[in-house]
Amino acid sequence: MSEAEVTPKRQKGLDGTPKPSLAQPAPAQPAPAQPAKPVKQAKPTKGKAAKARKAAKGRGVKHKVVYERINYLVQAAVAVVELSPDLARHYVGNIRELARRLVLRLDRSISRQLCKGCDIILVPHISAKVRIKAKLVTTTCLSCGQSSSHSGITFATSDPSP
Ligand SMILES: [Zn+2]
Repeated sequence: MSEAEVTPKRQKGLDGTPKPSLAQPAPAQPAPAQPAKPVKQAKPTKGKAAKARKAAKGRGVKHKVVYERINYLVQAAVAVVELSPDLARHYVGNIRELARRLVLRLDRSISRQLCKGCDIILVPHISAKVRIKAKLVTTTCLSCGQSSSHSGITFATSDPSP
């Protein structure tokens, strides 16, 4: 008898303890539901971001790394031409090799800085002589004497003037 009385008491006691525990999860249930909603919202934004990245890749410049390399080599050649013309020729040779291998057309602003005779970078007063006569710019290499001329001073090709 006493055991039967004890067991219901234990059951009651067990029932009594889960009741507060049930009451606690009730507020806890909305709490996981709230983080779940931002996760659902984050997934579409990730998808949108991925789509945007893919679109940006599609619109990106082809051979961007090579153009960056060419830009670096031009700057390096300009920097060293006064101290070491042979090193500048080596850099210009690398530029021509990159453009030839990937069939890239060098921008006019770059190709006009490269000597066609000895592959040195043409910097006015250091490795080249520049004369302007009758709207014609003539650049003469000081090491090999090769001269090239073009009309107008167009070092920046992004000039929108017609
Ligand atoms: Zn030259």
